[in-house]
Amino acid sequence: MLATLMYGPGDVRCEAVDDPKLLKPTDAIIKLSATCICGSDLWPYRGLQPTDGPAHMGHEYCGVVVEVGSEVKTVRPGQFVVGSFCISDNTCPHCRFGFHSSCVQREFMSGAQAPFARVPLADGTLVATAELPSADLIPHLLATSDVLGTGWYAADAANVGEGSTVVVVGDGAVGLMGVLAAKEMGAARIIAMSRHAARQKLATEFGATDIVAERGEEGVARIKDLTGGVGADSVLECVGTQQSMTQAIACSRPGGSIGYVGVPHGVTFEGEAMFFAQRRMLGGPAPVRRFLPDLIDRVLAGRIKPGKVFDLKLPLSEVAEGYRAMDERRAIKTLITV
Ligand SMILES: [Zn+2]
Repeated sequence: MLATLMYGPGDVRCEAVDDPKLLKPTDAIIKLSATCICGSDLWPYRGLQPTDGPAHMGHEYCGVVVEVGSEVKTVRPGQFVVGSFCISDNTCPHCRFGFHSSCVQREFMSGAQAPFARVPLADGTLVATAELPSADLIPHLLATSDVLGTGWYAADAANVGEGSTVVVVGDGAVGLMGVLAAKEMGAARIIAMSRHAARQKLATEFGATDIVAERGEEGVARIKDLTGGVGADSVLECVGTQQSMTQAIACSRPGGSIGYVGVPHGVTFEGEAMFFAQRRMLGGPAPVRRFLPDLIDRVLAGRIKPGKVFDLKLPLSEVAEGYRAMDERRAIKTLITV
């Protein structure tokens, strides 16, 4: 089959590789219905994260099971499934506590920007739907696999609830999904920090009540203005730079919560400043598996349309252009047909 390989920064190719095979009795092989490029794929693409030779890319996936190992019990060939980018057993103490992304058997999914993929720990990782979904639902279901699940976790970690005032730092796909999540969780006010017209429009569609285009100290001052000098109850940090983290902490009120899901690159904290700031912080790779059944139900019920975040659709053969478009911010998120 053809698959996506990253040879190094800026060098993504669609090349022939061996078809995936069952390697363990707990594996499943799925035929992907669609796949996509993640904002986190841009870190190695931009040379900001070391890569080791050609990497088999892709960790967001949904599709139909074609083969399962001898120990797989809960999914079977023919079923439509969605899984998280974090492989988890769903049975260990961390999974039972809701932190599947710290599963004792954790692995990170790879190789999903391809027509077929191997999913380890299929019973714990995959969630099957009762029926095969219609084609128009595929982008929305695909979004639950990572980008929506991660935005949802940011809102959950930031304690968004009924009536909350929420600030979302970052207008990438995850930030936009954070807006959608905050809306679903009952936030009264959702302030999206964004400088790009197309992203501001989508944020508003997903539920943002205010847009702040300023950044840094000016941005924080605008948030203070909009919240009567108080700051936000909940802040979703969806970038991962020092500037965005500093901005997120400063936008929160004392006692407020920051959910941070942008993978930190070069971010440091100063202990004494954090002590006096009095902020709650929870971040990390999202335990998407915890949210998947609920998110899938919301999509199937037509309640949410997270797949609107895909504003570019390309065939697998043009995957390199999908990376370029996201790198140059010409696209928010690229859906890849396989
Ligand atoms: Zn586990």
